[in-house]
This record gives sequence, C-alpha cells and structure tokens, in this order.
Amino acid sequence: MDRRNALKHMGVLGLGTSLLPASAATWNTEKKLGVALVGLGNYSTRQLAPALQETEHCYLAGIVTGTPQKAVDWAKKYNIPQKNIYNYENYDRIKDNPDIDIIYVVLPNSMHAEYTIRGFEAGKHVICEKPMAMDTKECLQMLAARDKAGKQLQIGYRLYYHPVHLAAVEVGNRSRWGKVKMMESGLGFRMGVPGSWRLDKKMGGGGAIMDLGVYCIQGIRRFVGELPVSVTAQGFNTVPEIFKGIYESVTFQMRFPSGAVSSSSTSYNANMDRFYATCEEGRLEIKPCFSAGQPPQLVASEELSVEPSKNQYQQTAQMDAFALNLKTGSQVTASGEEGLFDLQIIDAIKQSKATGRQV
Ligand code: NAD
Repeated sequence: MDRRNALKHMGVLGLGTSLLPASAATWNTEKKLGVALVGLGNYSTRQLAPALQETEHCYLAGIVTGTPQKAVDWAKKYNIPQKNIYNYENYDRIKDNPDIDIIYVVLPNSMHAEYTIRGFEAGKHVICEKPMAMDTKECLQMLAARDKAGKQLQIGYRLYYHPVHLAAVEVGNRSRWGKVKMMESGLGFRMGVPGSWRLDKKMGGGGAIMDLGVYCIQGIRRFVGELPVSVTAQGFNTVPEIFKGIYESVTFQMRFPSGAVSSSSTSYNANMDRFYATCEEGRLEIKPCFSAGQPPQLVASEELSVEPSKNQYQQTAQMDAFALNLKTGSQVTASGEEGLFDLQIIDAIKQSKATGRQV
C-alpha cells in the first residue's frame, strides 16, 4: 500500500467526506439521538454523563446498570424515564425501545465484545470504550456483527476529535516538517485500587499495555500516518504480588515503512503522560497528552494553529461527531477498524514480550 492509500485506509485523510450508502443518511438532522450508557462506573459517572449534558446532537436517554440504587440516583439526577432503564438481565430488550439510538459500552474490557455484539443484534449503533476488545479475534467478530446489522461502530477514542491532537496529526501526516524521524510516547499512573478488574488478566486483558497502550500506539501511528512493520517489546515487574500474571510496565519500539521509529512506555506503577515527535525540520511535544482529566498542552518548534476547544469535556466532540456521522451518513473517524489496528499491534507486542523477538 502506498502512503496515501495507507492513510486513507487508516481513516486519516478525507475525514468525514466518504459517504455511506444513501440509506444510512435518513435521520432528521435536528433530532438529538438517544444514548444509553452501559455500565455506570467511574468513566460514565465522571466524564460521559456530564459530557452528554453538553452535546448538541445526542443526549443521555437511558442507562444499563446492575445496581438498583444507581438506577434510582441516575433517574433523578438526569431525568431518565423508567422505561429507559435496564439491567444486565433485560439488556437485550433495548431493541424494542425507539428512544435509544446508540448503545455506549463502558464496561470492563473483557465485556466489550459481548455487549457490543448484543447491541448490534438489538439493532442499535454502538460506541465501545477502549481497548476495543481483548484481542484481534474479538475485534473481527465485532466488525462482522456491525456489518451484519448494517449499523455503525465508534471506539471511545476521544482524542481523535481533540483540536491539539488534530493539529499534531496534520503536521506529521502532511510531512509539513519533512519526514518524521523519531517519536516517543508514554502513559502511566500509580494503580491505587487493589482488587480492580484492571489488574485481573481475565477482565483487563493484561494490565497497562491494554488500558494505556492504545493511546501510546495511536498517538504514534496517527502522527506518522502509517502502520508499523515491526514491533519489539519488554515487560517489567517490581511488585509481582500486586501485578499477578500481568506486567506492571511495558516498553515497546515500532518501525514504520517510511523509516520512522518510535519508543513507548506504559505503566501501572509510574506517572507519565507525554508524546514527542521530531521530523527533519521541526519537532513538537504534547504534555500532558492523553489523559481525560487535563487538557493536552502543545509546544512546537513552529507555532501551529489550534482551534480553541468549545467544550469542558473531551467526550462531547467525540459523541457529537458520531451522532453527526449517523445523521449525515458520513464516515466514522474513530472507527472499529482503528480499534482493530491497535489490538493487532498489542497482540504483536504481547508476542514479542513472550518470545523476546521482533514481531
Ligand atoms: P469502572 O470499574 O469504574 O466501571 C466499570 C463498570 O462496569 C461498573 O459500573 C461496574 O459495576 C460494571 N460492571 C458490570 N459487570 C461487571 C463485572 N463483572 N465486573 C466488574 N465491573 C462490572 O471502570 P471505568 O474506569 O469506568 O472503565 C470502564 C471502561 O471505560 C473500560 O473499558 C476503560 O478502559 C474505559 N475508559 C475509557 C476512558 C477514556 O478516556 N476513553 C477513561 C476511563 C475508562
């Protein structure tokens, strides 16, 4: 694949211009689409529900929760009618509810594939949180379910819609500073919750590399606008009694067809949040870069024009973009294919860690 085709394939070029079949564009563009959040944990509570108070093209229409008290509290706080409240036993009945256009899966990683596929079987469009699934195989099953249902899938990649990240991607993709030479990315935090599903390999899928690795990978591959040709990776554990069967920290390196190389770190036991890229004629750093809680800060060797963010929450633009994709029939930017790329790379990272070889 040449560079332009590879970029097109990655959804980096021509954003929003490629149209779906005309039948997809049947929405009334004035209508706000109804979103049902599945799983009312930390992310739904602190980010997604507040962001849905800011969105212009969709709104919080329903919830799916296994905790009766949360159902009561959320119904009151967000004025959600009883008929739009589900639990994990009656989840599939959502198919009969015309108020719900979009199901948003915000569950532990091991549940993403199942609840996404059941969402498509219920005839709904789906947003699924990152990482898209536990591995490549599950991603492919989700894409097949999407296509069978004739619905759309977005991965909860909020940074695909953030002005700072868009400005950076533009520089790298358009070779504005010549060829991309080297890139670094890092994301980590000190895991403060013993017993969390994130530390359980069966639910989290392998610790920091699953949870945080997607950001480090996509920051790099989106900047250079290519997919890597090879990966090497190393795993580290200093407290094996906490990080059982998973690595506390993972470092990995990627090589790209153009000759660019990258180095990344993820950790559940060290704080970091940064992206750095150096090109033939310029360089930039974003720090903080990936976390939801704080706005990304860009420093570049040449001033870049960055549109000011209109919203308090990064997820507002992400969810509005998906609602607009559905209303207008335009291409989803943070598509399931984008999620698949990252899981393919994570699978290669895991293989490299296990064998000590380049994959
Ligand atoms: P959380 O632990 O706070 O919430 C998980 C929710 O799932 C809880 O409401 C819990 O009750 C529910 N649940 C249902 N069945 C469960 C089971 N069998 N075991 C455990 N929980 C179960 O987690 P979170 O931080 O809200 O993360 C949820 C998802 O959102 C994850 O996939 C995570 O990667 C993603 N996330 C994304 C971002 C982002 O910036 N895009 C940020 C945080 C989390």
